[in-house]
Amino acid sequence: MTSAPTPDLDGLDALEARLRQDLAWLEWPAKTWVPRRVVDGKEVLDVVIVGGGMTGLVASGMLKRFGVDNQVVLDRARAGTEGPWVTYARMRTLRSPKELTGPAMGLPALTFRAFYEAQYGVEAWQRLDRAPRTLWMDYLVWYRKVLSLPVQNEVTVERIQRQSDQLLAVDVRGPDGPRQMLARHVVLATGRDGLGGSFVPEIAASVDRRFWAHTSDAIDFARLKGRRVAVVGAGASAMDNAAVALESGAARLDLFIRRADIPRVNKFTGIGSQGVVHGFAGLSDDWKWRFLDHTIRAQTPPPRPSVLRVSAFPQAHFHLASPITALEERDDHVVVATPRGRYETDFIIFGTGFRVDLALRPELGAFAPYIRFWRDRFAAPDGMDNEELSSSPDLGDSFEFLEKVPGTCPALSRLHCFNYPATLSHGKLSGDIPAVSEGADRLARGIVRALFVEDRERHFENLKAFATPEILGDEWTDADDALAARQPAPIAST
Ligand SMILES: Cc1cc2nc3c(=O)[nH]c(=O)nc-3n(C[C@H](O)[C@H](O)[C@H](O)COP(=O)(O)OP(=O)(O)OC[C@H]3O[C@@H](n4cnc5c(N)ncnc54)[C@H](O)[C@@H]3O)c2cc1C
Repeated sequence: MTSAPTPDLDGLDALEARLRQDLAWLEWPAKTWVPRRVVDGKEVLDVVIVGGGMTGLVASGMLKRFGVDNQVVLDRARAGTEGPWVTYARMRTLRSPKELTGPAMGLPALTFRAFYEAQYGVEAWQRLDRAPRTLWMDYLVWYRKVLSLPVQNEVTVERIQRQSDQLLAVDVRGPDGPRQMLARHVVLATGRDGLGGSFVPEIAASVDRRFWAHTSDAIDFARLKGRRVAVVGAGASAMDNAAVALESGAARLDLFIRRADIPRVNKFTGIGSQGVVHGFAGLSDDWKWRFLDHTIRAQTPPPRPSVLRVSAFPQAHFHLASPITALEERDDHVVVATPRGRYETDFIIFGTGFRVDLALRPELGAFAPYIRFWRDRFAAPDGMDNEELSSSPDLGDSFEFLEKVPGTCPALSRLHCFNYPATLSHGKLSGDIPAVSEGADRLARGIVRALFVEDRERHFENLKAFATPEILGDEWTDADDALAARQPAPIAST
């Protein structure tokens, strides 16, 4: 693990001064231009962003850049604890290479590298392997501060509904109780589980809830000291949870992996390029499906350091080709059955991922019946049935939901799905670090366009009313008038 030296706060001050200068040179943010609206005495927000994790922050920053500053970002988490980084993420460092510019929107002084070097120096940067997990959270906190993003924390969005075809009503609950906001557009930057929740196999229900957790749950690892722990799955989270259990003193760790081998090749990341970032959305439906079906079937390998972190412990046991076929409760423990054996364990952690299920998202309840998914209009090609893909939302050009039945819910075009499930429509632009600025750019341009077009009459009135002259009329003289003034008046004939 890489440990950072003491931070140089003067270095960070200097970086912030440079960033301010860069923003001034670029004239960022652009001037405000969206006409304000008031409905029934209430100010209407142009955009409400649900989620103040990395994706919500960059969406907010990009909208500000384009002069859309009548916006808020709402997050139910306490400030500084948004997203997985300091809650349920249990890896030591990010998987992503440290050089990725992620949410920096093309601004060198806003990159993680600039943030790191300003505090720890260039040599420390060269020695650094990957971004330490909690430092990445610090970076996001700093990012939000230096861009003065309008984030409100400990505010949960409980329900979004249609107020009119032009307006959404957003019911929220914060420290001061419930209130309602009106917004012209709402962006869901709600993360990996943004359209659903954690997934555990049905078999988990055969034992009492006290015997298991999902990797995204808060887990008291201290209680697992001296106990037997089972982890299900071979992904990054499964591996990191297994490692933390071992580091917390688990007496035995059984890792149950359905496949006969651990996935080894990180397919989609491997072909990453600006072509994929900007080109994926241009693919036909068939091709989008083919790319992602292949990727999902190959599965993403766990990072090598995470696997080594587990295998370093002699009490760690990897069981391959071991899908769980039964779970049996026995007094104070559980027996796990697989085709290859039976194992006693005290606690099970499911590293089995997330799923789309709108029933788990009450904030979307009013829209759920109208939202179109890929399964509603696209038949998987032969041999490529894929539940994860067919349950992806079918999105428009700026991540907006589309209607299952055209004409039944036009307000859906104001609700933008800027989270992981957007991948099949747009490529990986709305979740992971690599292309999140490009995703936010696409989203923000779409919203800007929609706002401008909708307000066209106001803008046209402004055009007609605008009368500030650039030319005052004293810059030139009419050549013929001047000539006429110099010549004697014609003699009048009598
Ligand atoms: C363990 C783990 C490790 C990861 N490592 C990497 C990595 O190394 N590199 C990488 O690129 N990606 C990684 N990811 C993916 C990671 O989730 C994303 O990169 C990043 O968190 C995406 O940011 P986000 O803003 O989309 O989602 P999140 O960070 O999850 O933020 C979503 C926010 O929405 C808020 N929210 C949701 N619903 C509501 C509501 N109704 N009201 C108010 N607030 C709400 C949540 O509180 C949360 O703060 C990892 C994910 C996990 C789980």
